[in-house]
Amino acid sequence: MPDCTFCGCPVEAHDPVFVSDSPDEDPTAQFCNYGCLAAHIDEAGLATGTACEWSPGQ
Ligand SMILES: [Zn+2]
Repeated sequence: MPDCTFCGCPVEAHDPVFVSDSPDEDPTAQFCNYGCLAAHIDEAGLATGTACEWSPGQ
């Protein structure tokens, strides 16, 4: 049973969300639910500094 990429809990005990860099490959990350996915994105800063002009504090 895979563990949540963010919190380490077994994802299948919840409502898991799987993420893959490529549609043809196995999931590279998995999360308990969208809450853990959102928290991981927030903590890793994945939504800032790339193509998005929004940044924290503005
Ligand atoms: Zn989790």
